[in-house]
Amino acid sequence: MKQNSILLLILLILGFGCEEYNDPQNPLIVICFDDNYQSVYDNGLPILNAFNMKATNFTNTGNLGDEDHYGWDELIEMELEYGWETAGHTLNHINMPFCSDEYVEYQIKEDWLNLKNNGLSHESFALPAGNVTIDQFRIIQKYYQNIRNSYDIKQFSPIDETALGYYSFDSSFEPEDIIGRILRGVDHKEVLIILGFHAIDHNSTFSANCIPDKFEEIISWISENGFEVVTLKEAVKKLTE
Ligand SMILES: [Zn+2]
Repeated sequence: MKQNSILLLILLILGFGCEEYNDPQNPLIVICFDDNYQSVYDNGLPILNAFNMKATNFTNTGNLGDEDHYGWDELIEMELEYGWETAGHTLNHINMPFCSDEYVEYQIKEDWLNLKNNGLSHESFALPAGNVTIDQFRIIQKYYQNIRNSYDIKQFSPIDETALGYYSFDSSFEPEDIIGRILRGVDHKEVLIILGFHAIDHNSTFSANCIPDKFEEIISWISENGFEVVTLKEAVKKLTE
């Protein structure tokens, strides 16, 4: 046996491996809804209210009130009545790398001002479709502290609030897919799991839709298992203090 192997064997026997970090704390859970779907207000909000949970709306304020999309009244109600967080997502869900930096700044700044001037939260932002150039990323940082992308990144302590990932529900998923993601996070000792949803519709062919029964099953499981559900800005505050 080579010398290195002998040393490793001795260390393993003596228990000098990677010491187990025994923090019983579960990861915080954040529930996000992107793109202002009406069914979030109609079906998602009552389910979350029944379990006393809040979510974060990544909103395109230029698209509020469009067909199948809720309007300003519902957005404001979700934050001011029910404690949800409102967050930016550009005015019209633009694909940023295909746009000039001047237009990107207009889309980000006007969306941010719309939130601010309506007395809503304006700390968090999600990249539309997950796309951005490095120069555009710097523009976002002029307005927002928390930036969420579209990757399923494992989030350990300390978190980077400008590189927050999420696990996005696809209409082919079952509740077990989301539950499995949360349990992997517990196993890996992640501190934050961000779950992403779009529409919560009974009848939809939309690839990111989650039917209300499945959504309720997920939320019920999260509640029964004692996970703490917070908004994104609350999670960042708790994890960076
Ligand atoms: Zn989006």
